[in-house]
Amino acid sequence: MYVARVLYPVEVLGPGKRVGIWFCGCPRRCKGCSNPELWEFQERYKTTPETVFELVKSVAKEHDIEGFTITGGDPMFQATDLQRLLYLLKEISDDIIVYTGYKINDIIPEMLSNISVLIDGEYIEELNDNSLLRGSSNQKVHILDEAKADKYRTYFNTESNKVQNFFTSDGVVSVGIHRPDF
Ligand code: SF4
Repeated sequence: MYVARVLYPVEVLGPGKRVGIWFCGCPRRCKGCSNPELWEFQERYKTTPETVFELVKSVAKEHDIEGFTITGGDPMFQATDLQRLLYLLKEISDDIIVYTGYKINDIIPEMLSNISVLIDGEYIEELNDNSLLRGSSNQKVHILDEAKADKYRTYFNTESNKVQNFFTSDGVVSVGIHRPDF
């Protein structure tokens, strides 16, 4: 599998302090995609679900992890590894948001059963309306885990879009839903 970034604490892509995981690789090439540097499946980002999980476990030893937000790239292009990673991550938290350009009907039930919230559909720059968690208004938020429905309804009723910058050794990673002119 190819994973380019694991960041913590991500506080702008779902409730609480989350681990953000950015898969690398997406052939969709949507106009205005905020992560074009993650379109190619890059060998330098090759890893395994177990390696990512060990990294997450090391974070969990010293920090509270409210949940995970998995984005990219489009993680569904690496469905087998994504499924394995979801299975492992649930040992730490079963609050897992997944972004994909696929539509929910294209995704097998076994995958959906491991996801709390799915945000589906390709990004359409002209429909970027600063919606919470959605890059563009055609995308839909599917709360799949009924046990978390109240938590997410509250989140959507009380939160607004924010951006969070992470400073790394070689630059800045800006996390969140950005406006087209950002
Ligand atoms: S599906 Fe997402 S990651 Fe892929 S090109 Fe579109 S916006 Fe970018």
